[in-house]
Amino acid sequence: VIRHGAMLHPLAAAMLHPLASISLSISVFFSQNSKNAQGLVGLRNLGNTCFMNSILQCLSNTHDLRDYCLRNTHRTDLNNNCRANAALMEEFAKLTQILWTSASNEAISPSDFKTQIQKYAPRFVGYNQQDAQEFLRFLLDGLHNEVNRVSVRPRVPVEDFDHLSDDEKAKRMWNKYLEREDSKVVDLFVGQLKSSLTCSECGFCSTVFDPFWDLSLPIAKSSGEVALIDCLRLFTKEDVLDGNEKPTCQRCKARRKCTKKFSIQKFPKVLVLHLKRFSEARVKTAKLSTFVNFPIKELDLREFASDNMNAIYNLYAVSNHTGTTLGGHYTAYCRNPSTGEWYTYNDSRVSPMSSSQVRSSDAYVLFYELALSSRM
Ligand SMILES: [Zn+2]
Repeated sequence: VIRHGAMLHPLAAAMLHPLASISLSISVFFSQNSKNAQGLVGLRNLGNTCFMNSILQCLSNTHDLRDYCLRNTHRTDLNNNCRANAALMEEFAKLTQILWTSASNEAISPSDFKTQIQKYAPRFVGYNQQDAQEFLRFLLDGLHNEVNRVSVRPRVPVEDFDHLSDDEKAKRMWNKYLEREDSKVVDLFVGQLKSSLTCSECGFCSTVFDPFWDLSLPIAKSSGEVALIDCLRLFTKEDVLDGNEKPTCQRCKARRKCTKKFSIQKFPKVLVLHLKRFSEARVKTAKLSTFVNFPIKELDLREFASDNMNAIYNLYAVSNHTGTTLGGHYTAYCRNPSTGEWYTYNDSRVSPMSSSQVRSSDAYVLFYELALSSRM
């Protein structure tokens, strides 16, 4: 009912809602600037739901997304769009609010949230172990769809931007994306990837710009440890497309051997890096437990930028996977956005940890926040 009252002031709508009492305790949370570390509440395991708990804690410690939920800003987005269904966002916000305003540190049950995510993505029905990165993709997609500022996606005509400079083309492509997909989730997590295809015959280079929600990085082969930067280099390495993979060159008008290369055109505020530990074979049996050494502070990505951009990221959360593909367990290491201290989230248990323990061969999904970006 409230959602259809688009004329209602967002604050009034919030106060009419059954969660109004939570809204009040949140205003206390913000005004006191409490020194008690909140966000240290565990999530009960409902039966193999550690993949979900791990990702929920990483998102709960995502500063801007947390505040979006705590300040009920999502309601404004929902009201403006007269959404018929916003149950997933509501449950996600409710859960985040409880994690940050609960009076006790006793673990809570995410079962109401689970009900909604499995309505949105039926693959999460039941209690099978699932892949945390796939879950993250589904969850962000579901939240985005509910708080998308675009209520009716326009048909976007196919336009030819090939006569434009790469920078101009990238901007136009990004704006076209925003005409359809524009939300707080996009503001935070989505970047733009440039893919350049160069013909080996005539040297013609065609460029394509695509949005990305995370980057799946191959793990560089090594008997010992590898550096994250080497995984990024492997991801952006020039790749030869030949044989059956030969693309059609726009200038030659024929299929030609080409080289393909990725670079980052637009750096997202939150960069999610997924380490491809699981083989893509039909039967998932292999897991790479290579130790990937990643920086906790100042991950410098300027060498991967398509133009003269400088981007420096700091790590704030990690989703870890221990064990094998057949039997495994997920936990999360998160830096509390209020105190800057690191904690281990292992389902219902939350315990302090040292930042020196954050790096391990269990790290699976890394969450980085943009600290600095500038044109050089
Ligand atoms: Zn060509």
